[in-house]
Amino acid sequence: MTVQRTQSFDPSFIGKMKKTGRNVVIFYGSQTGTAEEFAGRLAKDCNRYGMKGMAADPEEFDMDDLPQLKDIENSLVIFVMATYGEGDPTDNAHELHEWLQNDQDLEGVTYAVFGLGNKTYEHYNAMAIFVDERMKKLNATRVHEVGLGDDDANIEDDFVTWREGFWPAVCEKFGIEATGEDISMRQYTLTVHDDEISKEKTFRGEPARLNSFNTQKPPFDAKNPFMAPVIVNKELTKGGDRSVMHIELDITGSKIRYEAGDHVAIYPINDSELVEGIGKRLGVDLDVVFSLDNIDEEASKKHPFPNPCSYRTALTHYLDITSRPRTHILKDLAEYCTDTADKEKLLAMASSTDEGKRLYNEYVWKDHRHILAVLEGIPSLNPPIDHLCELLPRLNVRYYSISSSPKEHPTSIHVTAVLVEYETRIGVKMNGVATRYLSNKLPTDSLKPTVPIYVRKSQFRLPFRSTTPVIMVGPGTGLAPFRGFIQSRDNERKQGKKVGQMILYFGCRYKDRDFIYQDEIEQFESEGTLSKVHTAFSRDGPQKVYVQHLMQNNKEEIWQVLEEGGHIYVCGDARNMARDVHKCLLDVITSLGDKSTNEAEDYIKKLQQKGRYAQDVWS
Ligand code: FAD
Ligand code: NAP
Repeated sequence: MTVQRTQSFDPSFIGKMKKTGRNVVIFYGSQTGTAEEFAGRLAKDCNRYGMKGMAADPEEFDMDDLPQLKDIENSLVIFVMATYGEGDPTDNAHELHEWLQNDQDLEGVTYAVFGLGNKTYEHYNAMAIFVDERMKKLNATRVHEVGLGDDDANIEDDFVTWREGFWPAVCEKFGIEATGEDISMRQYTLTVHDDEISKEKTFRGEPARLNSFNTQKPPFDAKNPFMAPVIVNKELTKGGDRSVMHIELDITGSKIRYEAGDHVAIYPINDSELVEGIGKRLGVDLDVVFSLDNIDEEASKKHPFPNPCSYRTALTHYLDITSRPRTHILKDLAEYCTDTADKEKLLAMASSTDEGKRLYNEYVWKDHRHILAVLEGIPSLNPPIDHLCELLPRLNVRYYSISSSPKEHPTSIHVTAVLVEYETRIGVKMNGVATRYLSNKLPTDSLKPTVPIYVRKSQFRLPFRSTTPVIMVGPGTGLAPFRGFIQSRDNERKQGKKVGQMILYFGCRYKDRDFIYQDEIEQFESEGTLSKVHTAFSRDGPQKVYVQHLMQNNKEEIWQVLEEGGHIYVCGDARNMARDVHKCLLDVITSLGDKSTNEAEDYIKKLQQKGRYAQDVWS
């Protein structure tokens, strides 16, 4: 997202491969950076097998080149593809997805696919499976079985395991062997700006354009976020140990337009205590301004993140310092251990042996050790901070389902977010990066703190006709987009428009504690915008009551809405709730629609295709 590219970028990847003596191209479909990181690791691996690889963004290159890959000796294309949303390609892989649907002959092209998905979602790894099937259909030769990584479990382990089988298959195919030891190569060179570099030339957290935080110019988007003043930040829960925040972001004068159902992206920053902790542990002055420049002058990505910037800015705004470091980071860091036992421990965790994987799983994964915890746990490990900055992944934006309607709130965007707080197995208290950041953005009469945002359009929309009946299922913070939907319909009703039935299923733990927006919901119901509200309080009685249990009791009503051409929406937890609700819907259709399970699945697919059954879920 923040890569800075050369002006005259050549879209021919074959041309580039020939010019630079490369025989492996790794295309990545990446939304949060993990697929891009895996692609980079595979490119690095190539050196070990006497091959030369390059990670490539499919959006930047002309895919029509692909049939010519066979002209390069021992050549290979690898696709590292994340699946996004409802089985969709990532933003940068849309064109590749379209291109693969055309008929072409890829005979003689050798390929492999690794997918990044999440089993809690319905369309698990759909993009990787699609790429694999199309490549096969277009006569390309698969060198190793498709790998399906599950982000709900341990995707690092899935990747390492797949790679373990993949490289021997490549060796067999091309009659080559590993050329010995791994050489750890830096991808970027460091420049420390000893001279007084002017403040105007130093990045201070902007995702792309220097000074964009101060000189705000529309249009606002991912590269140019709007600094939205927080005008309201209030607690929605009444007692208990959890916090759900209602936040209002002022978009006056920004020219930002949104619809109910869209998402707002927020650029969070890391906790300053953690940042200072890393600086202290490594004994570095965090105010030093530095740059990292790609050694490969041909690379489209010139810097790993916007720079020059200070180490403090890099660790605060650009780098993910709270997630668990992946094995390749541990491997590169091992070089900086002065104690042999420490070095061996890190190398073991980075290896693909069963014992290594077990160690990594226990020490890093299950104990949820972030980079500072690893550094603190291994005292002889003293990496240079610039190498650490090169290795750490980028800090990603966080998305929130907008909980307002522009019809009611044209100059503000509302967010409903639950504060993430938990304790790791080893007793360390952890905070969610973005929700901690938001919880500290408390406005006063004289000061409105700002947060960098942009709006991401979604497909989650009310039906075109205001008379179409809708059912909304949104327990917990899953209520967020429905608050926007209800406001929209309420506005239409008040303007004298005829509105259809609106049925809400809401669930929370305790009626007295976390029935968020209770007053509003009751008012919408009494005024007739909401025709029915079904509430499930899971922990108030002796038995758990969930939204799907109430749906089971109202099968006829649901079936009638569907038969009348109504829409059904589900929002919130992808892991359990959305699945259970889906099962319940299947049951409604089989029992009342008198259909077999297959027919009911088809019925649901058709609803989805027509946008009459939509999910906005996360895990
Ligand atoms: P992070 O720093 O990202 O930490 C979260 C991570 O911590 C988890 O992935 C998990 O690895 C770990 N973790 C969390 N709890 C535990 C635990 N108990 N034990 C062990 N590990 C744990 N959220 C909302 O609140 N409201 C919304 O309306 C909303 N809408 C969304 C819409 C979309 C399209 C998407 C993709 C997500 C949405 N989310 C929403 C989720 C939101 O984007 C963030 O993921 C969430 O707020 C957490 O961000 P964070 O930075 O605070 O936490
Ligand atoms: P919540 O308050 O935890 O849950 C809302 C209600 O849903 C509760 O009554 C809960 O009951 C119930 N529920 C639990 N399992 C269910 C199931 N299988 N089917 C139907 N209802 C079920 O909700 P929240 O805090 O708003 O969070 C919503 C979801 O988003 C969470 O489940 C969480 O997975 C996810 N989330 C993730 C992150 C993250 O960091 N990645 C951040 C925020 C939210 P019980 O709890 O009593 O069982």
